[in-house]
Amino acid sequence: SAMVQLQGVTKRYGEFEALHSIDLSIAKGEFVTLLGPSGSGKSTLLNLIAGMIAPSSGRIIIDGRDATTLPTNRRGLGMVFQNYALMPHMTVFENIAFPLQVRGLPKDEIRRKVTGVLDLIQLGHVAGRKPRELSGGQQQRVSLARCIVYNPALILMDEPLGALDKKLREQMQLEIKRLHAELGITMLYVTHDQDEALTMSDRIVLMNGGRIEQQGQPDTLYFKP
Ligand code: ADP
Ligand code: ADP
Repeated sequence: SAMVQLQGVTKRYGEFEALHSIDLSIAKGEFVTLLGPSGSGKSTLLNLIAGMIAPSSGRIIIDGRDATTLPTNRRGLGMVFQNYALMPHMTVFENIAFPLQVRGLPKDEIRRKVTGVLDLIQLGHVAGRKPRELSGGQQQRVSLARCIVYNPALILMDEPLGALDKKLREQMQLEIKRLHAELGITMLYVTHDQDEALTMSDRIVLMNGGRIEQQGQPDTLYFKP
C-alpha cells in the first residue's frame, strides 16, 4: 500500500507555477529518488509532503490520511538536510536525545534508544563530543541518527550529502542504503546527481520544469547524453 500519494498537486508561488498537477505514489518501504536539475521543483515537492508549504491545489495523502489537516509534526516523518542543523553546544548524545526529551520520554528509555541508534551508525565512541569535533561525514551520520531515533515511517532527505567530498559521499550512500534495508523505512531522497540516484534508488522520478518527465527503476530510464 502507499505511504505517500499526490493527486493533481499544483504549487504556485505568486504567478509562477513551480509544480504542474503532479501525480505520484510511493509504496511503503520504497526508496524513491527525485532527480532533476536545479529549479525543477524537487524541494517544493519534498516541502509539500513535509507540510512546510501548502499545495495550491490537489491532494496529498500520507499513510492513508489526507495531509491537508495534518501539521508537519503529525505526519510521522523525519527530515535530513544538507546543512546538518546540529546544536553546537550539545554533545552528540544530547543532540540525538533532544527530540525525545522534548516529547517527554523517560530518561532510561531515552538512554536506551540513543545508545541503540549510536550503535547502528557506529558512532558510540564519539557520543560525548561536540559537533565541531566531528568530521563532516560523522556530523551527517549524527543528523541521520537524530532522525531515525523517532522511528519515523518516512524519511525525507534533501541533498543530504551535497556538502561532503566524493569519498565520504560514497561511504554515506552505502550507509543510508544499509539503514534503509535494515529498518524498512520509506525513503524519499532528493539529488541532482545522476550517479547517486542510480546507486541508491528502487525508483527514480525524473523531474523537469515542475513536471515528472520519466519514472522507473534505474535501469529502465533513458538519460539524454
Ligand atoms: P529544485 O529543488 O529542483 O532546485 P525548487 O523546488 O527549489 O527546485 O524550485 C522550483 C522553482 O520554484 C524554481 O524556479 C524556484 O525559483 C521557484 N521557487 C522555489 N521556492 C520559491 C519561493 N518561495 N518563492 C518563489 N519561487 C520559488
Ligand atoms: P507519534 O507519531 O508517535 O504519535 P507525535 O504525535 O508526538 O508522535 O508526533 C511526533 C512525530 O513528528 C514523530 O513521529 C516524529 O517523527 C515527527 N517529528 C516531530 N518533530 C520532528 C523533527 N524536528 N524532525 C523530524 N521529525 C519530527
